[in-house]
This record gives sequence, structure tokens and C-alpha cells, in this order.
Amino acid sequence: MDARVAGCRVCPRLVEWREEVARVKRAAFAGWEYWGRPVPGFGAGDAPLVIVGLAPAAHGGNRTGRMFTGDRSGDVLYQALYDVGLASQAEAVSADDGLELYGVRITAPVHCAPPDNKPTPAERDACRHWLVEELTLLRPGLRAMVVLGAYGWQAVWPALAAAGWEIPRPRPAFGHGVRVELDGVQVFGCFHVSQRNTFTGKLTPEMLREVLETAARAAGLK
Ligand code: SF4
Repeated sequence: MDARVAGCRVCPRLVEWREEVARVKRAAFAGWEYWGRPVPGFGAGDAPLVIVGLAPAAHGGNRTGRMFTGDRSGDVLYQALYDVGLASQAEAVSADDGLELYGVRITAPVHCAPPDNKPTPAERDACRHWLVEELTLLRPGLRAMVVLGAYGWQAVWPALAAAGWEIPRPRPAFGHGVRVELDGVQVFGCFHVSQRNTFTGKLTPEMLREVLETAARAAGLK
């Protein structure tokens, strides 16, 4: 599935953007050969804990080819995963940096970097089938999910429903620390690890570690 995701070209605007960013590059990464393709999920296909973000960053995942790798958001996320024992190292700088996740898979509802980090509703809907397929594959062993931010929170419910879960109605509102029990899986809301949240203190390392710890326990990883 990861190989098929990486070859997807369904959204014309995102294909153009991701490839243009890869061509033009940022001066600091002029020596890099950018990935410039959809970024597949990262981590074992039978992980009991899945983390769902928004979409790859133009000069992060779109450059390195791995989720949250090579940008400030990822620095915060991987540091926290390492701190709570779910990652082998805190540094995530390239796809071959040796980082391993323990019982965790990281994915997103949109696999291509969008301009201004804002996919259109049509792009989000076009990408949903990948998340549905991924959740369907993960389902036998899946016990917990951490959703980073309101965008991901809105996006996961239709995907979970399409993957066979019964979803509460009305859909639960997003909030940091919200926990929703589904059949066999607990879903946790967490503020996104974006710089806007981490620089302002809306999401502190302690808050992030606490959600990850709780989710890891729910997933049977602790
Ligand atoms: Fe394909 Fe998703 Fe990228 Fe659209 S956003 S081109 S559906 S991988």
C-alpha cells in the first residue's frame, strides 16, 4: 500500500505544488534531492497505536519522504515519542536516519504537501480512501489512535466509518485530551504539533507526553 500511495497523482493542484517545491527547494536544502511525492504512513503495518496528523510539510515530509521528518513539528513529535519510549531516538532528519517506532504508525488524511498547509475539501475527500485502506489493514491489531488537531479530527470519522467502525452521533467535538471509545479502539484528541501551537505554549511538551502516555497504555504498549 505504501508504494501505491507514493505513486498517486489524483489531485492536480497538489501534484503540481509538491513537484514545484521539490524543484525550486528552500535555500537551506539546496543540496537535497526532494522526495516530491505523496508521503506514505511511517511505522509497522500492525502497530496498535496510530497517530494521525494533517498533511506533509512542503520542506519536511515532502523533502525527506517520511512523515513529520525534517521539520519543526516533527522535532516536537519525535522528541515526545522518544521521551515516552515509543521511538528509538528523538532526531528525525531523513528517511535513513535509523529512527524506529515501537508499536506506532504515523499517517495523515492527506498524503501530499498542500499550499499553506490547506488541502481543499475535494483533495481531502480524494485522499480518504488511502486512510480507509490503512485503517482497514491496521484494524486487527489497532487499539488506540491519537489525532493531532481539528483538521485531522474531522477527517478521521468518515474514514473510521468507512473502515467499519460504528461512529457516535453526533460526532464528538475536538478538544485536547478528549477520549472517544469505539469498538476496540480508543481515539484521543491532541492539539497539533504545529509551530503555532508549540511556540505559543498552547501545546507544551508535557501536554503532548501525557496524551501519548495515555494512548500508549490504551494500546497495551505500557
Ligand atoms: Fe493522491 Fe492523496 Fe496526494 Fe491526492 S493528496 S494526489 S489522493 S496521495
